[in-house]
Amino acid sequence: MEMQQEIKKRVYKFGNKTTDGNSTMKNLLGGKGANLAEMSAIGIPVPPGFTITTEVCTEYNLLGKDKIISLLKNEVEAAVAQVEDIMGAKFGSNENPCLLSVRSGARVSMPGMMDTVLNLGMNDNSVQGLIAKTGNERFAWDSYRRFVQMFGGVVLGVGAKSKEDHDPFEEIITKAKKDKGVELDTDLDVADLKQMVADFKAACTAQTGEPFPEDPWDQLWGSITAVFDSWMNPRAIYYRNMHGYPEEWGTAVNVQAMVYGNMGDNSGTGVAFTRDAATGENIFNGEYLINAQGEDVVAGVRTPQQITLEGSKRWAVLAGVSEEERKNNYPSLEELMPAIYKELNETQDKLEKHYNDMQDLEFTIQEGKLWMLQTRNGKRTAAAMVRIAMELLEDGRIDEKKALLMQEPAKLDELLHPVFDGEAIKAAKVLAKGLPASPGAATGQIVFFADEADKYPVSILVRVETSPEDLEGMNIAKGILTARGGMTSHAAVVARGMGKCCVSGAGAIQINYKTRVMTIEGNKYQEGDWISLNGSTGEVYEGKIGTKDAELSGYFGSVMTLADKYRKLGVRTNAETERECKVAVEFGAEGIGLCRTEHMFFEGERLVRMREMILAEDEAGRREALDKLLPIQRKDFKDVFAAMAGLPVTVRLLDPPLHEFVPHEEENQKEMAAEMGISVEAIKQKVEDLHEFNPMLGHRGCRLGITYPEITEMQARAIIEAALELKAEGIKTFPEIMIPLIGTVKEFKLQEEIVRAVAAEVFAEKGDKIDYLVGTMIEIPRACLTADKIAEVAEFFSFGTNDLTQMGFGYSRDDAGKFLPIYIEKGILKADPFQVLDQEGIGQLVEMGTTKGRSTNAKLKVGICGEHGGEPSSVEFCHRVGMDYVSCSPFRVPIARLAAAQAAIKEQA
Ligand code: PEP
Ligand code: MG
Repeated sequence: MEMQQEIKKRVYKFGNKTTDGNSTMKNLLGGKGANLAEMSAIGIPVPPGFTITTEVCTEYNLLGKDKIISLLKNEVEAAVAQVEDIMGAKFGSNENPCLLSVRSGARVSMPGMMDTVLNLGMNDNSVQGLIAKTGNERFAWDSYRRFVQMFGGVVLGVGAKSKEDHDPFEEIITKAKKDKGVELDTDLDVADLKQMVADFKAACTAQTGEPFPEDPWDQLWGSITAVFDSWMNPRAIYYRNMHGYPEEWGTAVNVQAMVYGNMGDNSGTGVAFTRDAATGENIFNGEYLINAQGEDVVAGVRTPQQITLEGSKRWAVLAGVSEEERKNNYPSLEELMPAIYKELNETQDKLEKHYNDMQDLEFTIQEGKLWMLQTRNGKRTAAAMVRIAMELLEDGRIDEKKALLMQEPAKLDELLHPVFDGEAIKAAKVLAKGLPASPGAATGQIVFFADEADKYPVSILVRVETSPEDLEGMNIAKGILTARGGMTSHAAVVARGMGKCCVSGAGAIQINYKTRVMTIEGNKYQEGDWISLNGSTGEVYEGKIGTKDAELSGYFGSVMTLADKYRKLGVRTNAETERECKVAVEFGAEGIGLCRTEHMFFEGERLVRMREMILAEDEAGRREALDKLLPIQRKDFKDVFAAMAGLPVTVRLLDPPLHEFVPHEEENQKEMAAEMGISVEAIKQKVEDLHEFNPMLGHRGCRLGITYPEITEMQARAIIEAALELKAEGIKTFPEIMIPLIGTVKEFKLQEEIVRAVAAEVFAEKGDKIDYLVGTMIEIPRACLTADKIAEVAEFFSFGTNDLTQMGFGYSRDDAGKFLPIYIEKGILKADPFQVLDQEGIGQLVEMGTTKGRSTNAKLKVGICGEHGGEPSSVEFCHRVGMDYVSCSPFRVPIARLAAAQAAIKEQA
C-alpha cells in the first residue's frame, strides 16, 4: 500500500507545453480539469495550473488531511513552481504576486454544490505587490477583503452560528456602510476596505480562536482540503442522490493562476460565440469591455463593445449609433487591439474545429496577453441548432450520425409554434406558473366562457378546467389557461391535438365566473384584460406580448429527411379531425395510432345525440339515438380515412367515463328534456344515477361496449361502411379497430366477436370487403401480466401509457398535479411520470406486455399511443423494447422522428 501510494501520479499539470492530461480523462480529472488540460494541450493559452485527481478525494476520505498533504507535497510544490514560472510571478510576493483560484470539478457538472476559493495568496505583503503591479489600490484591497471573506467562510467555516444569527461578514459590511451613510459596496473607499480586512480577520479569529493564516501555503492546503470536504457536504450528497451519482466518483481540485482583466487599459474581458447562437449563422461574434472583470460584462452597468468590426457595425445600426460615435466610443476589439483580436480569432477557429460544435468562450486580456478561461458547447435556439448541425455536416466537419445526435429533439418544438418576441418577453411580468401543457406562445384578452371566445379578435380562454362542450371556443381562442388539471387533462390533450398553446393546472389562479374576474395573489384581472401564455414553460404573463409565427426553414426539412434514413421505429399520430390529420401528415406521420372517437361527439348535434343515447331508458331508446349517430360517425371516419389515404388508421371504440357526456348545467338539461320529450326532473334523476365515485375506474372503456353492445355495433358499422364507401371511390384505407381498457382476454373476445359479426354483415350487404385488424389498448396492469393470452386473439397492441401510469402508480391523472410537483421537489420522482415514461416501473410492464404478447403471436404489431409517444427518452425506450411504432400528437411527430433516429444510432454504437 505504502509503495503504491508513493508512485501514483496525483497531480496533473496544464499550461504551456507541459500538459499532462486530456479530454478523455474526465473520470480522473473531472470535467473541468480534463477540458482545461485538453485546451492547453492543443495550444490554447489557458491560465496555467494543475488538477489533483478524483482518486485523491477518495484517499483523502480514507487517510485524512495530514497524510494527504504529505503525499501531495512534492507534486503540488513542483506544479506551483511551474505556474509561477509561466506567469512570471511569485506566490505571496510583495512585488509581483501570483494569485491562485481553487475550484472543485467532478466528472459531471454539479453547479454550485461544492466550494471555490478565489484570490488565494493574498496577505499584507502581496496586497502591496498587487498595488504596485496595477496601480489600483482600491482593486487590490477589494480583492483582499473578498479573499478573507471567501476563505473564512469556505475553509475556516466562519458564518452565522445559528439560523437566527447573522453572517459576521455581512454584519461588518452592513455596519461599515451604515457608519459611512452609503448604500452600495462600491461607495466604500480604500480606508474602509482596509478596515474591513482587519475586521474580517478579527471575526475569523473570534470564531476559530486562531490567527487568520497569512502564509500562502497554509491558505492553499486549507483550500484544497476544503474542496475535498465539500464533496461530502449535505448539498452535494443530496444532489448526488437525486441524480444517482455514486460517492466513489469523488471530486478533483483545480488550482489555477488568477488573471485579471481590470489591470488598466491594456486589459479587458469578454464572452464570444463561434457562431450566432440565435440564428446559427457562421459568424464569430461576442462582446468585451476594456479594464473590467467578468461580472462587469454581464452586469449591464457599462455598454459592452463588439469583438468583430462586422458585429460592431451591425450593432451600431440596431442601437442607432453613428459610425463616427461607434469608432470613437465603442470600437470593436478588432480595431482597438488588432494583434489580440487576431489571436482570439485564430483561437476560436481552432476550438470550434477541435470540438466540432459551436463554442461559447470566455476570455480575459491581462496586460496585453490573451487568456482563455473557458470553452463549452454553446447554448442555442432551435433555429440555430438545426442550421449549425446541417452546416457542419455540409462542410464535412461531422458525419450524419453526429449531426443527428448533436440535436435536442424536444427543442424542435420551438420551430413549429409561434414564439414570443425576444425583447418583449425579457421585460414581461410573470403572474403564475402552471404546467407546460401544449407549447407555443399566445397573447390575447381574457374570456371566461368558451361560447364567448370570439368576443375579442384575439382571446385567451381562462377556465377552472375545460369540458367537451368547450371544444369550439378552445379552437377559436389563441390560448387556453386552466387552474386545475394535469398534463393529460381534457384541456391539455385537446390543445396539443390542435397545436394550440395551453397552460394547465396553474394552481395560484382563482376564477369567479359570476363576476368574471381572475385573481392571482390578490391581483384581479377582468374579462378583456390582456394576458400572455408560454405553453412551453407554463408561464403566465401580464399584458400583451408580441409573438412571431413559426417558420419551417429548409434546414428543418433536411434534418427530418436525415432522421428518417436512420430510424427504425414508425411514427404515427394521435388525431381525430381532418385538420389534425393534415398537419400530422405534413410533419411526416405514417398513420394514425390513436383516433379517440369520443372526441368526435363533443360538439353540436353530436353531443345532443350522444346524451340522448346515454340518458335513454332502455336498449330501444339507445338504439334510436345510435341510429342518428351512425351517419355522423360514418362521415367522420370517411374524412379521417380520406385524409390519411393509404395509411393505417387505428380507431379506438368509445372509451371515456359516461359521466363526461352528461349534461350538468341546467340549461343543457332543459335542452335534453325538450329533445327527448321527458321532464327536467327525469333528466336530473338520470344524471344522478350516472354519478360515479371514481369515474376513471368506473363505467368506461370496453365496459361500455360490454354493457351496451349496441354502441360497439354502431361504431364498427360506421368504420366498415366508411371504408367500403371510400373503396368505391378508389381510396385505400387500412382500419385497425381498437378495443380500449381491457384487463381480461374475455373482454376482448366479446368485443371482437361483435366487431367481426358486424363487419361480415356489412360485407354481405355491400357485396364487397376490405382488410381490417382488431386489436387492443394495453393500459391496465393486468393486461400486461396476461398479454400472452390476449395476443393469441388480438392482432395488435397499443400501449396506453397514460392509463397504465395512472393505474401502475395509483396516481389519478386528473389530480396528480396537486402532489407531483412536491414529489419532484423532494426527489421522490425525477420527472412527471405522465410526461416522461417511468422506465424503471411502468417500463417493466410495457416490456413484459410486449415480450409476452410476441411469445404467442410473433406477428403482433406493437405501438404506444400514450402521451409518452412524443417524449424523446420514452421514444428511445420504445425503440429498445422493440416496438413497431410510436404515436403522438401531430406537433410532436418531428420530435419523435428525430428521437427515433437517435435511438437507432445509439444502439448501433
Ligand atoms: C392512454 O391511456 O394512454 C391513452 C392513450 O388513452 P386515453 O389518454 O384516451 O385514456
Ligand atoms: Mg387510456
